[in-house]
Order: sequence, then C-alpha cells, then structure tokens
Amino acid sequence: MRNARTIAAALVIAGVAAGTAADRLPETRPLSRGGYLVLQADLHVHSFLGDGTLWPWDLALEARRHGLDAIAITNHNQILAARLGRWLAPRLGGALVVAGEEITAPRYHLIAVGIDRTIGWREGPARAIEEVHARGGAAIAAHPTRFFWPGWDDAALRSLDGAEVCHPLTYYQGPEHLRVFFSRFKSENPGGAAIGSSDWHVFGSLGLCRTFVFAHEASERGLVEAVRSGRTVAYDVKGVPHGDAALVALLGTPPAPPIEPPAQAFLALAGRICALAGMAGLCLFRSSRRS
Ligand SMILES: [Zn+2]
Ligand SMILES: [Zn+2]
Repeated sequence: MRNARTIAAALVIAGVAAGTAADRLPETRPLSRGGYLVLQADLHVHSFLGDGTLWPWDLALEARRHGLDAIAITNHNQILAARLGRWLAPRLGGALVVAGEEITAPRYHLIAVGIDRTIGWREGPARAIEEVHARGGAAIAAHPTRFFWPGWDDAALRSLDGAEVCHPLTYYQGPEHLRVFFSRFKSENPGGAAIGSSDWHVFGSLGLCRTFVFAHEASERGLVEAVRSGRTVAYDVKGVPHGDAALVALLGTPPAPPIEPPAQAFLALAGRICALAGMAGLCLFRSSRRS
C-alpha cells in the first residue's frame, strides 16, 4: 500500500510539473490599424479581494492567454483590488490592467475605468458620471437590460461615454435589450462608444465579449481617451459590429483568440490527468488504511 501511495504522490508532482511546463503565455502585441494601436480589452472584470475568484495578477496573466491586451478590474463599489492589479501586472508580464469600479446602485450599474478612488452612487448616474470625468476616467453603462432602463435618464445618457452591447447575459437572453438601450444612448450621444465585456466573476471565459479600442498609446490614459472619444468597435452575440463604420472597416475581420499549440495542449492535458489520478490514488489509499 505504501508503494501505491508513493506512486500516487509522484503522479501529483508530475502533473504539477507538466502543467507548469505547459503554461507558456502567447506572444501578444496590439494590432496596428490606420495609425492607431487597436487594444483588445475586457473593461468589466471582477477580481478576488472583491467579488471575483482570481487574484488581480492571475487575471492579468489569464487575459494574455485569451489574447487580450488590457483588462479593467471593476469590483462592485470597491477599487482596492484594481489598484493592486494595476501596480503588479506590469511587473509580472501580464496584460495592461486599468483600475476601475462597478458603481452599483439598485437601478443602474455603471463601469468607471481609469479612476483612483471610489465614486458615490446615491445621487444617480448623471452625478456619478460627472465625478468619474472629474477624476479623469471614462463611464460605461453595464449590462443595461430592460430591468435597468428606468435608472437611466436622458441627462445621464448625454454624458455617458459608452454602453455594453455585448455581455454574457445576451448569450441566453438575446441581443435585443442591449441593442435597444444602445440605440437610445446613441440618439442622445451620437459619438458614444460600443463596448463588449465579459463581466467575469467565476465561470465563463475572460474576453468572451471584448472591445477593440483604437488608442494612440497602450496605456490607461490612452485607453480612457479612446473610450471617451468613442473610438471602439464591439461585436454583439449575433456577430453584428457596433461602432463607427470607418473603424469597423479599418479593423476588418477581428482576430481569433490565440490557440494553444498541440504539443502544449497535450502536455497540459497529460498534466491534468496525472494530477487527478494521483489525488484520487492518495484519497483511495487513505480511506483503505482507515478501514
Ligand atoms: Zn453589474
Ligand atoms: Zn459586473
């Protein structure tokens, strides 16, 4: 039995080693189109030390695995994790991390990106957007489904910088709610930005919905400036592009997320199988000994 336990432990170690060896980040470089850097960004991501399950630096590395150049960490009414991620990510080789917050009120959720401290929500979205701008950030309506429509008055829409047109909710609800809101937003603010975001907490895929941001520089400042100027393209769940027609044409066919090379994928799979078999063996041996 001791031999079996030793073999199981060796399998766990081999699995961890194989998984570590297989974990090579793909080379990512922003696209270049028409004099702009086109940053692939997920501007609505939740992190641990808040309401997400991954640490900010893990999110920055995971973003690169999904071909993202930038993420905004946007916990509910909290900015601590985002600031930590912004500081650490460049030191670890992760994607650009922009500090943000999901300003969360009963009738509206508002993403603020490029800010340094939390923004009050009690005085309504127009006042919150004003404060986001005063702090140098950009403001985006989060998942504005029918439930949230009454929370948005015309004054708020006129000062809003962007609205989500792609969000994981639309994979089962359909794109209509967000399209209707986006039309209303564009009628009040024709230069407003189209945004696609994953609202990642636990499950799903980072960057499942993403925004192509036409920036002058790959930095938080460059990203915020581009969003505030409406230079974005996002595809909704039906593959319909939203954003300025000239930018949609400039982008062309959007690049597919990176695919793991077969050898790397095989090593990762083998590592998982080894580790799971080893852990099962360790549990089995322990229960056998107790009986
Ligand atoms: Zn929300
Ligand atoms: Zn959210």
